[in-house]
Amino acid sequence: MDQETLPPHVLMFPLPLQGPVNAMLKLAELLCLSGFHITFLLTDHIHTQLLKYSNIHSRFNAYPGFRLETISDGLPENHPRSGAELMDLFNSLKIKTMILFKDLLTSGKLNSDLRRPVTCVIAEGCMGYACDVVNDVGLPVIYVRTFSACCLWVFFCLPKLIESGEIPFMGNDLDRQIKSIPGMEGFIRQRDLPMFCRTRNLPDPDLNHYLQNLPEITECSRAHGLILNTSDALEGPILAQIHAFCPNLYTIGPLHSHLKYKLLGQPSSLPPSSNGMWKEDMSCITWLDSQPPKSVLYVSFGSLAVMTKDQYMEFWHGLVNSGSRFLWVIRPDSVTTDPTEIPLELSKGTEERGYIVGWAPQVEVLAHRAVGGFLTHSGWNSTLESVIEGVPMICWPYFFDQQVNSRYVGEVWKLGLDMKDTCDRVIIEKTVRELMEDRKDEFRKSADEMAKFAKECLMEGGSSYANLERLVKDIKSM
Ligand code: UDP
Repeated sequence: MDQETLPPHVLMFPLPLQGPVNAMLKLAELLCLSGFHITFLLTDHIHTQLLKYSNIHSRFNAYPGFRLETISDGLPENHPRSGAELMDLFNSLKIKTMILFKDLLTSGKLNSDLRRPVTCVIAEGCMGYACDVVNDVGLPVIYVRTFSACCLWVFFCLPKLIESGEIPFMGNDLDRQIKSIPGMEGFIRQRDLPMFCRTRNLPDPDLNHYLQNLPEITECSRAHGLILNTSDALEGPILAQIHAFCPNLYTIGPLHSHLKYKLLGQPSSLPPSSNGMWKEDMSCITWLDSQPPKSVLYVSFGSLAVMTKDQYMEFWHGLVNSGSRFLWVIRPDSVTTDPTEIPLELSKGTEERGYIVGWAPQVEVLAHRAVGGFLTHSGWNSTLESVIEGVPMICWPYFFDQQVNSRYVGEVWKLGLDMKDTCDRVIIEKTVRELMEDRKDEFRKSADEMAKFAKECLMEGGSSYANLERLVKDIKSM
């Protein structure tokens, strides 16, 4: 077959974590819908999890151009990949996986008569080192960053924050305003910066780790462009700042919703998308079906956050005492204690209005008519999923971009309450009442408005819609 007549062949390499893999799989589907051939590279660990619990194979059977490849993340299979051990994963990817990645690119293994050689690589920008490997073999790279643009902008401004003396924090005044981040003046405080900025002294190992990797995190010059899972409606002013450093921005999000809109016009033979790395407990949908409209607070802290037994108990009492109905996701590995030491059963009286699962079909849950609020760790995917469904949030950020995201939710977008740095049953109870009862109309109104703006970006004439068309055209011309 004349290879010139074949569609572009894109190699996609996500950061091997639930959120980024989810987002990149959505992008892969969008590109498949444009007729592209995709080779999607997963680490063995993630692949095994997805094989166990997701329907990735049956879903992607519908796309003849989609193919999976796997690579080792360099860690033993039983090594934890969440909480404090996340750094081990990042280090191993950089040192061990990159050697294997280079072998894969040069081995010819990705070639076949039915595909063109790889046209370009779409890789998570946090793995900037992948760019060197790809450029070495003469291929263009497009970066994706699956966290928020507002956090990416904080990374860009880190050197300035250190230069101005705003990092390290010299006192305990976490409410002090930060002045050296253009576009965030007036609302960003010390406590809204990523946790690793909370250090009194330099050098600090945690902050140092980020500073050392900063060139990679913010690197744009060696890539053809940068794809962001966000939209002008959400982060327009910050995108304008980033644009000065990365002129070729493709803001095409929220990806999960973008895909949903693109599929509306397609024959509906696709099984529902389920990319989870834990078994989804669908019984919670049946439980939600029996609850009154907008009465349930959905509680989930994502795929990586780990809490102590004390924190868990504060949430437990706060939720029960609030009197609200709740659906709580307690991941098997999410509490740093022996699971037998924590109460997982709801007591009489509470069992009617509470439901606990190990992993939920989150997008479906947030879209359910019974859900009226989301107590979240402010992971970027969770935030986008909540925004699109118009669900107000209570934020309890855990790490990385989440401190910044929660400030945007609470102060900039006014979509809920930011509870960061507190984990006290009385405050939790009060905050839940405020979101679900006392101020529910105010939050629902702004959440509905924001959902409308975010969806408009995905329609013909909207910015995310146009940017995806541009991305497809640019890859075709490579
Ligand atoms: N998620 C899910 N079921 C759950 C909890 C989370 O499907 O019970 C999904 C959620 O929809 C989101 C992802 O897991 O797409 C979590 O990504 P996020 O960026 O919010 O947080 P992270 O897990 O990276 O901290």
